[in-house]
Amino acid sequence: MKTISIVIPCYNEQEVLPELFKRLTSVTNAWEYNVEMICINDGSKDNTWQLLKQQADKDSRWKIISFSRNFGHQTAVSCGLTYTVGDAVFIIDADLQDPPEVLESFLNKWEDGFDVVYAIRKARKESIFKKFSYWAFYRVLSKLSDLKIPLDSGDFSLMDRKVVNVINALPERNRFVRGLRAWAGFKQVGLEYERQARFAGETKYPFKKLLKLASDGIISFSSTPLIISAYIGMIVSFLAFIGVIFAILQRIFSPFFISIGIGPIAGYSTTIMAIMFLGGIQLIFLGIIGMYLGRIYDEVKQRPNWVIDESINL
Ligand code: UDP
Ligand code: MG
Repeated sequence: MKTISIVIPCYNEQEVLPELFKRLTSVTNAWEYNVEMICINDGSKDNTWQLLKQQADKDSRWKIISFSRNFGHQTAVSCGLTYTVGDAVFIIDADLQDPPEVLESFLNKWEDGFDVVYAIRKARKESIFKKFSYWAFYRVLSKLSDLKIPLDSGDFSLMDRKVVNVINALPERNRFVRGLRAWAGFKQVGLEYERQARFAGETKYPFKKLLKLASDGIISFSSTPLIISAYIGMIVSFLAFIGVIFAILQRIFSPFFISIGIGPIAGYSTTIMAIMFLGGIQLIFLGIIGMYLGRIYDEVKQRPNWVIDESINL
């Protein structure tokens, strides 16, 4: 019998775990596969770990790992993937926004011969702000990146063992799993589903973490922002060149320019404007270079991606 692995990152999810255990158990019991659930406790401060331990004691198909601190969602998913043994691997959120009841249809696609079945969110039951941010982000990313990363698809997916092996072998630290999945290639197909509202509790993705996710996505899969700086630099230099020529002509032919009302004046305000404008642009692009450099630095340091405190049933 084939084995299916389900990777579930958990960060302060005590309100949803009992329901997750119940729903996932009843769904997977109906399958003709062996299953393993790999839960990663990403440094939760509530009772998440206690609840996971109780579940793992009851049922050894639940394999659980606890990080030494919060390393972030993408890291938790990446860690979970490395421990899976299944012929196919699901990634789902703990909060039941990705309903376990739809997993069956993913498995059917996999049995049909697809290597990656990723979920496309048809509707989102979330705030307008979050909906808009995600909508805009996926479109900016696809414009900037050479890689075809499917629009509106998150980490929720089913991947064949060979795809998981490819992703596990990628050494990068700032991991954007849905991008790595697209990068891996193979036969991929999208499946629409309705993203539910979180079953209970608050989102664990405050704006700061969303920004980090978005910048990891863009920076890991595009160097267009660096190239834009070169273009804007060229345009601004060209404008400056024209300005200089104009100023020289103004000096040489000052009687003419005075006669038409634009003679040379002590141009304090224009000077200040030029300085501010150029200074602003330079700072923006220094910042962008800094973002790339920071990530290169992360890679060069070669620190492990996560630190495990405890694991059970593995
Ligand atoms: N999560 C995590 N570490 C974090 C933040 C989130 O493991 O630092 C997990 C969280 O428990 C959930 C999943 O990642 O299973 C997605 O988080 P959440 O549902 O809060 O994000 P949203 O759906 O609001 O974007
Ligand atoms: Mg959620």
